[in-house]
Amino acid sequence: MAAIDGLPPLREVIARHGLAARKALGQNFLLDLNLTAKIARSAGDLAHCDVLEVGPGPGGLTRALLAEGARHVLAVEKDERCLPALAEIASAWPGRLEVVHGDALEVDAAARLTPPIRVVANLPYNVGTELLTGWLTPPRWPPFWQSLTLMFQKEVAERIVARPGTKAYGRLAILAQWRCEARIVMVLPPEAFTPAPKVHSAVVQLTALPAPRFPADAKVLSRIVAAGFNQRRKMLRASLRGVAPEIEAKLVAAGIAPTARAEEVSLEAFCTLARIVAAD
Ligand code: SAM
Repeated sequence: MAAIDGLPPLREVIARHGLAARKALGQNFLLDLNLTAKIARSAGDLAHCDVLEVGPGPGGLTRALLAEGARHVLAVEKDERCLPALAEIASAWPGRLEVVHGDALEVDAAARLTPPIRVVANLPYNVGTELLTGWLTPPRWPPFWQSLTLMFQKEVAERIVARPGTKAYGRLAILAQWRCEARIVMVLPPEAFTPAPKVHSAVVQLTALPAPRFPADAKVLSRIVAAGFNQRRKMLRASLRGVAPEIEAKLVAAGIAPTARAEEVSLEAFCTLARIVAAD
């Protein structure tokens, strides 16, 4: 069956442009356009949105984003080999796809897009967490994006949505859940990708809240959480010793047992502690 954009199947595109996957670039491609359509739909109504896609590769998800009605797609791809295939997609959707050849860690995407903006990507595993951390810690909140719909290795996705008292709970969960609604919307087996990775993957949907769930200074909160989880087996009275003077009294004032470990502490309690530390 012909695709709705009239473009050839992805296997043919890959063969014609010689896009053998490169491990160093985290290339695990999605070739099933029904699946990419499902991912694009999980990002919500794209009709009036600009979309940032990191790592379009041969363009399976890009095609779905355009077919789902995205107003404008900015696709940032590091691998030069993919550019001719992406140019064919741009011709099929005149004026709606802009391809930038570059490293997503360095491209100022916000400056090239018009709000409302959604980010949708099957991220390269080697820079996925760094990109997410950057999107979650902008200088001002709300951020330039309304939502992030991102494919990660399942283990990383679980860390983003983790609850206190679990092994996966840590800095990423706090960063994500402090100012976003975060949930896993899809789990995919290795066979969904070409080549198949060793592990399952999952799509996480993060929606930016207008304001943080609990007040706290972002830098102080980040410092506390980093120190607490860097030595996650230690009691907080020890792991946070360098963060502020008289930390034991501050923990007590925040309602946290000084003998507790970071993974037992709720987001709300971390924010209370951050306010007490900042008030010093
Ligand atoms: N979106 C395509 C798909 O779903 O089939 C490809 C996804 S593949 C997991 C990741 C893509 O990110 C590859 O095309 C790779 O070349 C690209 N990539 C890797 N590092 C990048 C970076 N730093 N900036 C932009 N793109 C990058």
